Parts: sequence; structure tokens; C-alpha cells
Amino acid sequence: MNLDGVFIFVGLTPSTDYLRNLLETDESGHIKTDINLQTSEKGIFAAGDIRANSASQLISSAGDGATAAINAKKYISKGKMS
Ligand SMILES: Cc1cc2nc3c(=O)[nH]c(=O)nc-3n(C[C@H](O)[C@H](O)[C@H](O)COP(=O)(O)OP(=O)(O)OC[C@H]3O[C@@H](n4cnc5c(N)ncnc54)[C@H](O)[C@@H]3O)c2cc1C
Repeated sequence: MNLDGVFIFVGLTPSTDYLRNLLETDESGHIKTDINLQTSEKGIFAAGDIRANSASQLISSAGDGATAAINAKKYISKGKMS
């Protein structure tokens, strides 16, 4: 087939099998977080498409990254979230 380009659809299933004994996920394998993007394991944060209920857009994933980073810094400084 003579084509100018190809977009390969690799699917939307998150590769989180290796985390399932550590972090709580939903049925599809997306990692559950609270409003601070902290996972079920204190001190571990999740951001972007891998997160349960993510809007799965570039801008929301970037925002998640900033939120998770700020909260991770708070956690490291205080040893807790609040
Ligand atoms: C076909 C398609 C079209 C899209 N179009 C749009 C659009 O028009 N507008 C828009 O806003 N959004 C669009 N999106 C969604 C957007 O691409 C995602 O929301 C965004 O890329 C998510 O960013 P992320 O950093 O969470 O995840 P990703 O961009 O998926 O980055 C995750 C990275 O982690 C790496 N990784 C995975 N597992 C491991 C591991 N165990 N160790 C180390 N690295 C690992 C992956 O290789 C990848 O590089 C589109 C998505 C697809 C698939």
C-alpha cells in the first residue's frame, strides 16, 4: 500500500499490571487517586491518562503533572499531605 504516513492505534489499556499489588486501580487498570492525585499508597502520586477518571487530554495530563509534583513536594517536606 502506498501511503504518506501511518498512525498505529496501540489501544488505551494502561500498562499497570505490575502495580496491581501495590496501588488500587479500577477495573480497567487505571490508578485511583484522591483530589491531590495521591494513590492508595501514601507518597505515591499518579498523573495523566494512567489515572482513573482522567480527561485523557494533553492539557489535563500536563496539569495533573504539575499538581502531582507540587503535592509530592509537600508530602516530602511534611511527611504527610495536610
Ligand atoms: C491517537 C490519539 C490522539 C490523541 N489526540 C489528542 C488531541 O488531539 N488532543 C489532546 O489533548 N489529547 C489527545 N490525545 C490524548 C493525549 O495524547 C494524552 O492525553 C496524553 O499524551 C497523556 O499524557 P501522559 O503523560 O499521561 O501519558 P503518555 O503521553 O501516554 O506518556 C506516558 C509515557 O510513559 C511511558 N511508560 C509507560 N510505562 C512505563 C514504564 N513502566 N516505565 C517507564 N515509562 C513508561 C510511555 O512509553 C509513555 O512515553 C490523543 C491520544 C491518542 C492515542
